Amino acid sequence: MRKSFIVVLTLLLIGMAIYWQQFSNRKCCGNIKNTMYKIEDVVREENVIPVVIVGSGPAGLSASLYIARAGMKSVVFAGPMPCGQLTQTTFIDNWPGRERVLGIELMNDIKKQAQSFGAMIIHDSVTNIDFSQWPFSVQTEEGRRFKAMTVILCTGATPRKLNVVGEQEHWGKGVTTCAVCDAPFFKDKEVVIVGGGDSAAEKVFELAPYVKKTTVLVRKGSMRAAKVMQERIASYPNAAIEYYKEIKQVYGDGEKVVAIDVYDNQKDVVERRSIDGIFLAVGHDPNNKMLNNSVQLDEHGYVVMKDRSQETSIRGVFAAGEIQDPTYRQAIVAAGEGVKAALDTTSFLYEIGFSAEVGAHLEKNFFEHFSDVKKELKEITENQELYDYVLNAKGVVILDFYSTTCPGCIRMLPFLEAIAQKLEDKATIIKVNYTAVKKTIYRELWLEHDIKVRRLPTLLVFKDGKLLDMSTQMMSKSELFNYFQKFL
Ligand code: NDP
Repeated sequence: MRKSFIVVLTLLLIGMAIYWQQFSNRKCCGNIKNTMYKIEDVVREENVIPVVIVGSGPAGLSASLYIARAGMKSVVFAGPMPCGQLTQTTFIDNWPGRERVLGIELMNDIKKQAQSFGAMIIHDSVTNIDFSQWPFSVQTEEGRRFKAMTVILCTGATPRKLNVVGEQEHWGKGVTTCAVCDAPFFKDKEVVIVGGGDSAAEKVFELAPYVKKTTVLVRKGSMRAAKVMQERIASYPNAAIEYYKEIKQVYGDGEKVVAIDVYDNQKDVVERRSIDGIFLAVGHDPNNKMLNNSVQLDEHGYVVMKDRSQETSIRGVFAAGEIQDPTYRQAIVAAGEGVKAALDTTSFLYEIGFSAEVGAHLEKNFFEHFSDVKKELKEITENQELYDYVLNAKGVVILDFYSTTCPGCIRMLPFLEAIAQKLEDKATIIKVNYTAVKKTIYRELWLEHDIKVRRLPTLLVFKDGKLLDMSTQMMSKSELFNYFQKFL
């Protein structure tokens, strides 16, 4: 009697333990019960992608390379900044095996390598992911909807702003974060750089060859940039560093920045200074908006990793790069984490029963939905072409002023090519290489038509030969599409 009572009690306790485990699994951190990762359910569904990679910087592209090498299909959503923040810098000196390489060149090489193994890159941005069901439900800016068996978050971080009076009003009119984009437009001008980190030092190297003078304003008594970079700043005769200085207000003349109020926080005095440009390098914030707090974040908004893996608080969801790294923030570290995330992802997929057959089955149902059709843009270089194709042309013509070293231009080009295809019958988009047309088209527009291009990229919208609008804003594909629609 006593023995059977113990057996019944033991069975009851085991039953309660199993129930509790399942119940707590369901409640914990928005997590999903292990039993819900049923591979047999997904093979019957359409639009299911084994691995969705959000972001295409070093982390995302390295992850895609490893996923592809594991024989699995991934789709990389390139996001608003295809190939990530390295496209905003000039030379990279600290990538092992490459002595000195342009950021854009390095990222293009990684992209090509990933694509050669079969990685698929889509120029669209993920705007929302519903983690409350599995496969996870993903939505993009262009209205694509699909399911993801796993997600690798590689959305990086966005440069911070100062939030002072006049900053927003003069954004793109003298206030910017991208020195490599705008340096040629500040030839022989005076500019300030705000910040004391590596990015601030790098901006000195990018600006000094062009400007009359560049001054780094550091809010503390020292810079946190690497010593070697600080020493390099000292080697530029037109570069200076001022400590204990903060910008309090930005002033303009209605068109561009002309002055700033600089606060000396040691002497407690404010001084007004004439200035032509302000380059911000005051750190970054993690891009976590599309997560809607479903994944566990730390108090600064960085995704929290489980132990030493790249797994987040949700099974099947991984992260790599600056979205989860407030400390190291190096491209090579992000790439390594992308690789770790890919390995964790493949382990997870095998664990839940993924196989080559399952992969082949899913592929049949989702591939054709992802065509990114583009149209190569016509390029003009001569004044006669400017008149033939733009100023004497009927209908809407958009001129894209670009340069081959301007990261924003490179970022927007695939968007413009996709839109050119969509608007084929309604508008023509033509590209103009600023460096090649300085003495022809650029000069002609300025001197004969009073149209001044002051930074890159610049979009000029003409209708029946008349200039309707000019934009120097960085825009996503859908923002560009909506912008052009206004003129059709
Ligand atoms: P950091 O966070 O390292 O530095 C930000 C700087 O901005 C700090 O000096 C900070 O001051 C200052 N700052 C922040 N807010 C304000 C404000 N409101 N007003 C004035 N100053 C402000 O950012 P970085 O972008 O420079 O670097 C990020 C990471 O990327 C780092 O890990 C860096 O090593 C790496 N990096 C590496 C490069 C390379 O290796 N070539 C190049 C560029 C970046 P304070 O010091 O007082 O906090």
